[in-house]
Amino acid sequence: MNIPKHSFIAWLAVQNRLKTRDRLKKMQIIMDSTCMLCGEQEESRDHLLFQCTYNRKCWQAIKSWLNWKMETCNINNVTSWINNVVVVIYQIWKIRNNAFWNQCVLLPKMFVKNIMNDVRNCTGRSEWDIVPLRDKDI
Ligand SMILES: [Zn+2]
Repeated sequence: MNIPKHSFIAWLAVQNRLKTRDRLKKMQIIMDSTCMLCGEQEESRDHLLFQCTYNRKCWQAIKSWLNWKMETCNINNVTSWINNVVVVIYQIWKIRNNAFWNQCVLLPKMFVKNIMNDVRNCTGRSEWDIVPLRDKDI
């Protein structure tokens, strides 16, 4: 799987150049840097992608579904694992942007379903079942 938009977002994440809310606050574009997905902590790259309670549930579901055990016995396992991580990073950034711009977030189970479809289809397209942020069930 090699989808340019996924790779680009992953590259920005690795470089810590995603416009996360902590960075937007430092640029004085916004005043509140609280994560819009969990509402618990400041949204930084590491929080958004790995520490957020919302996304941690999604990561767990995806890891279980893909049976990720970080086995690196051959290049195909490593390549497949990296490709899937790139897809998940892209989808997390997409749902974060939907929360930022539209004040809506997917229910975690639908978010995971979209990632599964994305991994399966390699299309980058998915149907979004959107609910208002206040109704999210984390
Ligand atoms: Zn969060």
